[in-house]
Amino acid sequence: MVQRPVLWAAGEKRVLNLEIDGRQFTAQPGQTVLDVARAAGILIPTLCHHPDLSPIGSCRLCVVEERRLGKTSAACKLIAVEGMVIRTSTPELKRDRRFTLKMLLAGYVHDPATDQEHNELLHWAREYGAHADFTPAARFPNDSDPSPVLRVNLNQCILCLRCVRACAQVQGRFVWHLAEHGHATHIKPGVGTTMQDARCESCGACAAYCPTGALADRHSLGRGPPDRLVTTTCAYCGVGCQFDLNVEQGRVVRVTSNPAAPVNGMSLCVKGRYGHEYLHHPDRLLRPRVRQAHLSGSRASSPQAAKASPWVEVDWQVALDLVARRLADIRRQSGPDAIGLLASAKCTNEENYLMQKLARQVIGTNNIDHCARLCHSSTVAGLTMSYGSGAMSNSMDDVSQQAAAMFVIGSNTTEQHPVFGTMIRQAVIERGMKLIVADPRRIDLVDFATLHIRQKPGTDVALINGLAHLILANNWHDEGFIAERCEGFEAFASSLDRYTPQFVAQITGVPPEHLADVAEILGTNHPLAVVWAMGITQHTTGVMNVLALANLQMLLGNMGQPGGGVNPLRGQNNVQGACDMGALPNVLPGYQPVSSPDVVAFQSAWAVNFSDAAPSQPLFGTTPGLTVTEMIDAGARGTIRGLYILGEDPAMTEPDSNHVRAALAATEFVVLQEILPSETADYADVLLPGAAFAEKSGTFTNTERRVQLVRQAIDPPGEARQDWQTTAELAKKICSALEVTPAGHHASWDYESPAAIMREVAALTPSYAGVSHQRLERGERLQWPVPSASHPGTPILHVDRFTRGLGKFHVVEHLPPHELPNDEYPLVLTTGRVLYHWHGGELSRRSPTLLAQCPQPQVEISPEDARRLGLSVGSQVLVKSRRGEMLALADITDRVAAGTIFGNFHFPGPGNVNNLTIRALDPVAKIPEYKVCAVRLERATGQIQIS
Ligand code: SF4
Repeated sequence: MVQRPVLWAAGEKRVLNLEIDGRQFTAQPGQTVLDVARAAGILIPTLCHHPDLSPIGSCRLCVVEERRLGKTSAACKLIAVEGMVIRTSTPELKRDRRFTLKMLLAGYVHDPATDQEHNELLHWAREYGAHADFTPAARFPNDSDPSPVLRVNLNQCILCLRCVRACAQVQGRFVWHLAEHGHATHIKPGVGTTMQDARCESCGACAAYCPTGALADRHSLGRGPPDRLVTTTCAYCGVGCQFDLNVEQGRVVRVTSNPAAPVNGMSLCVKGRYGHEYLHHPDRLLRPRVRQAHLSGSRASSPQAAKASPWVEVDWQVALDLVARRLADIRRQSGPDAIGLLASAKCTNEENYLMQKLARQVIGTNNIDHCARLCHSSTVAGLTMSYGSGAMSNSMDDVSQQAAAMFVIGSNTTEQHPVFGTMIRQAVIERGMKLIVADPRRIDLVDFATLHIRQKPGTDVALINGLAHLILANNWHDEGFIAERCEGFEAFASSLDRYTPQFVAQITGVPPEHLADVAEILGTNHPLAVVWAMGITQHTTGVMNVLALANLQMLLGNMGQPGGGVNPLRGQNNVQGACDMGALPNVLPGYQPVSSPDVVAFQSAWAVNFSDAAPSQPLFGTTPGLTVTEMIDAGARGTIRGLYILGEDPAMTEPDSNHVRAALAATEFVVLQEILPSETADYADVLLPGAAFAEKSGTFTNTERRVQLVRQAIDPPGEARQDWQTTAELAKKICSALEVTPAGHHASWDYESPAAIMREVAALTPSYAGVSHQRLERGERLQWPVPSASHPGTPILHVDRFTRGLGKFHVVEHLPPHELPNDEYPLVLTTGRVLYHWHGGELSRRSPTLLAQCPQPQVEISPEDARRLGLSVGSQVLVKSRRGEMLALADITDRVAAGTIFGNFHFPGPGNVNNLTIRALDPVAKIPEYKVCAVRLERATGQIQIS
């Protein structure tokens, strides 16, 4: 008689004992036999199985024998139980597997254009000596579901459904479905007839999980295996995905998933997987260029005249000597504060550290800033005021896996931070997380939301205060947390009295009953994670918006625990790191204020001897320098005479572009270090060719404070150099021109590598003290603060106490946006990104795969407004504000409410939405109000020509 194995009662914690191939193993309840065998290094073949996907046991390749039951089962579905005796490799099993493979091969027509090396079906067929008895005929047309990034060949499909499950379970999309029956069964897009109709996001996940090449990257067809794979970090958004660059003959030919990537595993978005084509674009800058006016010996009559003179290619010495001489002259003549530097959130931590060191040590100014000013300066200011640290408190992984509810406000997550967007979709689908979306637009995430509230643009303080009012009124607040860990509660609570649902509804347009529903979900689901992005920050009330959210999370006691926290999503790939490195006018590396007595450590470490200054004179002042917007204005006034810009494009990305272009044109001497001739290049006097992410080494820090390695895969093109090398050499030349000699123990500019720069960062920055390239190379996962070389990093901030001690409630009151609609400009314009582009579009517009999916500037217009104006989809429209005009195509959609239009900021020239935006600034963070200005719409004639 066969003895039945024992199953433990549900929830009972036991370790199970079982035997596999004559060896004894233990297993946790719920583990499959395949899990246990693989952990022990026992090879069981699989095809339909993938560890990221729910098992379906359909291919039967992983059959194993359970000796005591005397039957075979698919190991991927067979749950381990006490006393099991498993055989994985008997002659009968091998025979069964060979037969399974033979059946699969009977319907499989190999296309030699697809990657044979990673074809799992062919691999196992070789291993088991399986062959089809006949050559199967193609039953489906090749390329049956054309997509810009994928080639679909159903003749290679074995119906393992990894693509269907990957799209649903990993990506949170449901593009692929099964159609027909029997022999005609095949996968197809589920809604409509095309992948686009089915809302495919071209992420390539289905191809990445396909084991046979039925779904394949279109651009990789016909390519053999690459020469090598280099694991590195994405240079688009702040999620910080890692992947493998496939290098062939010195070129990046493909990006493939690396399952060990800490943040994203196999997931990538369309930009990460396919947006690398700009690396080899013919526009790449290959040699330094100088305006002819600077080489002729006689000064041009004006900055504008110099910038109008033609470019001349020169060698590095000529270019750097000129830059060093001119910046040194300006410093001597007008003082250090006549020079400004813009660091870059696209560049590495090491490069940003050097930029601010150059500003403070060599030039002697705090005029250093970068594009964080334009995206999250209000977050940094607001969270520092509330908690003492301006960074994301939690990790994407913990909030997506452990939050009971999530409040996403002002973040179009699936388009701006796509892989985190997929994690949120998974959290809703897989474990029923409640999702509240507050956004003036009906963004994609709304499809997954429990509730969507559509506040009017610029009314977030009133909305959040209104929710806090209801939470207090219903006693959903966490009295214990507030009493133990916070201060300022009484004044805050009193300030909420007037934010009644009726009052808030008048301001925000959100009906009182919706406010009540949202407040209940926020108040009764614990832990709650709050997620935001530029919809919160880019307002004249940006800091107050952040303070209101910080109040909310203290009120609910959601800080310092997994699944909770404040989670501002940083935009650019290394905007977090550029801030950490002190590329800001008010703080040094590690957010040490320039006004703090502690900066004496920097003054001493970087000490230099100026020939014209007393040795005791501080290197840089204790007053914060100018922000980027202030530097641009100062250039127009002539108080900033020299501007050194690393990888930023203010002519494209600053608000009120016409003003910015005029200011840059009027700035006496502009040096631009870039990989491509951006819009700002028109206003530069010197262009220095830089290196893209694939061409350099260093580190990026993602939105959750995770420091990750960037590894060089290819050489920079032409004579282009890694940016840290250029900045270091320039610093040495300026030192020489100013007759400055290093004196402090970190004053030298002789770095042998980015790892050496990071050693200096660690020595001067307490939160990075334990970070080193060596630890990262060892695979250690480090989120700052990392206070020592043995510290494991800090995934969650503010666990037992806030960085500032007690969390501080702030009273914040609703203030209207700076510019509201009137009869002349009756519509509100709000701006943002689309999935297929990034920031000013400098990179994504030079990646044909991305550009093909969004080739023109568009504005979203509500059906009501379109009817009133006689517009239809694709109509050319002229959008006008008090500052300028923008040409675009009309996209008629209910994503926007009547009275509001949305424009993306990825296209230059007449298609630049920043021709319209306003320079009104938050008074504390100096962030511009990109999210609200008043415009009107007209029909436009003629052809839109956007490069
Ligand atoms: Fe790159 Fe962001 Fe896409 Fe990840 S989500 S692949 S980091 S752009």
